[in-house]
Order: sequence, then C-alpha cells, then structure tokens
Amino acid sequence: MFSDTIVALSTPPGAGALAVIRLSGAAAIALTASVFSKKSLPTAAGHTLHYGTLRDPNSGEILDEVVVALYRNPRSFTREDVVEISCHGSDYVVRQVLALFLRQGARLAEAGEFTKRAFLNGAMDLAQAEAVADLIASDSALSHRVALNQLRGGFSQELRELRGRLIKFAALLELELDFGEEDVEFADRTGLAHLLAEVRRVVAALLRSFELGNVIKNGITAVIAGRPNAGKSTLLNALLREERAIVSAIPGTTRDFIEDEISLDGLRFRFVDTAGLRDNPADEVEAIGVSRTRQRVRQAALLLYLFDLSEMTPAEVQREIQELTEGLDLPVMAVGNKTDLSTTEALAAFETTFRAEHSLTASSAPLVFVAANQQIGLDALQTALLAQVRGSALENTASATIVTNVRHARALETAAAHLAAVQAGLDTGLGTELLAADLRHALAALGEITGEISSEDLLTSIFTQFCIGK
Ligand code: GDP
Ligand code: ZN
Repeated sequence: MFSDTIVALSTPPGAGALAVIRLSGAAAIALTASVFSKKSLPTAAGHTLHYGTLRDPNSGEILDEVVVALYRNPRSFTREDVVEISCHGSDYVVRQVLALFLRQGARLAEAGEFTKRAFLNGAMDLAQAEAVADLIASDSALSHRVALNQLRGGFSQELRELRGRLIKFAALLELELDFGEEDVEFADRTGLAHLLAEVRRVVAALLRSFELGNVIKNGITAVIAGRPNAGKSTLLNALLREERAIVSAIPGTTRDFIEDEISLDGLRFRFVDTAGLRDNPADEVEAIGVSRTRQRVRQAALLLYLFDLSEMTPAEVQREIQELTEGLDLPVMAVGNKTDLSTTEALAAFETTFRAEHSLTASSAPLVFVAANQQIGLDALQTALLAQVRGSALENTASATIVTNVRHARALETAAAHLAAVQAGLDTGLGTELLAADLRHALAALGEITGEISSEDLLTSIFTQFCIGK
C-alpha cells in the first residue's frame, strides 16, 4: 500500500457529457468526503453510488453535481480505496475539481500509475498490466480480443504452467549440486530432454505468434505496385471509399482517417501507392522510380501487383513480379484491372496461361480480377487479401495465445536461447552446474514476462517440494 493518494482525470480531456475523475489511496474516501455533500460517505459500503454536490470548503462555492462511485480496498482496480467521481464533462469543471483535490492533499497521478499500483499491490501480473494499456489502445475488433484475453490472464497462465514444470527440474538439478561430489542424478535426463523439447516448441510457437500479434496490433503494410495507369490510385480510392461508407453509416463516429488505412474483418491494412513501374527503365529518372518502389516493397508485408489486363501478358506480369520480389520472402497478389474491357473468355485464358508457367514462383500467387473504377471485384479482392495474410496460422491460433508485446517477445527470445543451451548441454553431457545455470537463465527470462521471477522463487520451490532440512 502506498501512503499517498493519487488523483487524475480518467476520461479523455475536452468537452463531453461526463468526465470521470479517479482517486486511489488510503485517503481517497476521506478526501472526497471533505468536499462532498453526503456526510454518510466515510462509512458507506464499497461498490455503492452516491449522488451529491462538490463544494470548495474554503470558498463555500459549489463546483458541480456529481455521482461518486466508492470501492473499498481490496475490492478495487488498484486494491486500494478507490473513488470515481462522475462530473459534468467541461474542461473548466474538471480543472476546478482536480485543483480542489490537490489543495485537499491528493497528488496528481503519473502516467499509468493506477495500473502500476494494481500490479505492485498484486491485483494483476505484469503481462496483465501491459494488456490494460493494449486494451485502451486497441482500435480493431481483433486487437481488442487479443488484449482482453491477455488481461484475463490467458498468456500469463500458459507461461506460468511452462515455468512451473521447468522449475521442478531446476530444483532437482540444484539438489544434485547440493550433494556436491557424489555422483547422483536426481533429475532424470531423459525426462528433462522430453520436457525441454515440449517447452521449446511452445516458446517457438509463442514467438511465431508475435509476428501475427504484431500484424494485429500495428496493421499490415501492403504496397500497391504496377505500371503507370494500371489503376493503382483508382483501386486505392475504391477500397477507401467502401470503408468510409461503412464507417460513416455508424452514427456518431468522428474518427480521423489516416488516408490509406482500411480495416478488413478486424485487421488493419495500410495501403501504400507507389510511383508507376516502367516496362523499360531506360533513363536514369525512371530507374530511380523503380528502385524506390523496390525499397517500398522491401518494407511491406504484402505486395499487391496491379496491372491493366488489356495491356500486359501473363508472362510480362510474372516477370515484373519476379523483378520486384527478387530475394524477398513476401506474399504476392496479382490483381488484373479493367475487366470491363475484357471478355470472360479472355480472362479465363489469361488465368490458364498465368498458372501454366510453373518455373516462376509468381505463378502460384493468387490472381484476382477487378474493375477498380466500377467497384467490381472488390469483395473478392478483400477476401483474397485476408486469406493471404492470415493463411492457416490465424485459423489455428484464433483461440490460442498471441504475443503482441515487444518486451514479451524479447524475453521469449532470451528464454529460447537458454533453453537451446540446456538442450545442447544435455546432448553433450554437460555438467550439472552449467545445465542448472542455463535453466535458471531461461526461467528468469520467462518469469520476467509476468514479473514473478526472483531468485527466491526458485528457492521457495526447492523448499516446498523437498523437505530436506539444510
Ligand atoms: P495509376 O497510375 O496506376 O494510379 O492509375 P490511375 O488510378 O490513375 O488510373 C489510370 C486510368 O485508368 C484512369 O483514367 C482510370 O479512370 C482508368 N481506370 C482505372 N480503373 C479502371 C477500370 O477498372 N476500367 C477502366 N476502363 N478504366 C479504369
Ligand atoms: Zn496513381
């Protein structure tokens, strides 16, 4: 428990119907009572609402009519006494109320301090505390779902389970060390090898999920490349227009748009339009344009190669995709535009020829036909985009744990390296001491994620598992 009581505005600044000011700390209720009209507040039960007025005790001035929500330690977000005051959402009122509480002895909370207190007071572990931040920042259905899952402990539970099993082995190894010179093996090496293999598999899967988590959290950068007049700008506008129509149909949405971002089925796509690619980059200026496009492509997670069906042959499309993605491991979609100028037969023939060229990797890329300026084929394009990004990975991990946090990913990488060292040590018959050290490092890295590791952790486990007095 902290001795001081913190206060902050918990809703966004600016005018609104309501603003919520939150206090947490030992004096939260007493402080509120000193300026609140209801004299029963100090003895009121937790989880109750109280309507009344806030009054400056010095000037006697009434500041606002408010509703006070009371939470008593430990049944609150921070596990301290917490008061949430709903007042009218004007900047003036909020400033006055905050100033009043500061005069009464509260301290302005630092960024994230309520959540920090929740962690330090044991209300949640580190990964969960971080999920609170992710949840607040999440702006798509999918990132919201991932953060919520993490907040409820999904990620932490999986890690705790892993660590628990490893700690048992670490404890046995420590025990061997305690026996010093004697040639005893408490820790069954075969059993340890099996567990290691399993844990390494899970850690690797969690690390792989980070790639996906990153995509969910930050969106997917898709580069639209193609020759001038292929219809890149038209397609981008068509994609954006559809999204805008959907969003503006929701009453009350006043969200600012980043020009080229759309959300498909909970995944954010950031489309980057590129300078046109020339068929033949003869002069220098055009060569620069192409190299710039290539640079963009290198940073993308997906290449959408757009071409004019009436202008390019399947072989030409293949060749340009090949050139753009040379040396890159990047999903590609070939999108043929201006179907309105083609016949159904011509489209079918194009596809057949496109697929027939097996020597080129691009021949297996999804091929979609659209008429961008008439909004034809956009649904199929979006479906193909989603399928391309998700692949089978997302289907399999839909309900499983997804790592979204960089700190967690780093810790998992460290753990993976030490686990690999333990594995190598087992394979080469490394001494117990070194095995134990590597295992300890791996456990520390895993424990860093939930914030529960300390060297005492290990000692406690040894103690509780084996009642050998020392
Ligand atoms: P960019 O240079 O690749 O960005 O191409 P633009 O988007 O500027 O389009 C070039 C021209 O193609 C414009 O005149 C568009 O109106 C036209 N265009 C785009 N999509 C289609 C389409 O599906 N069918 C037809 N017939 N014309 C299109
Ligand atoms: Zn353009």
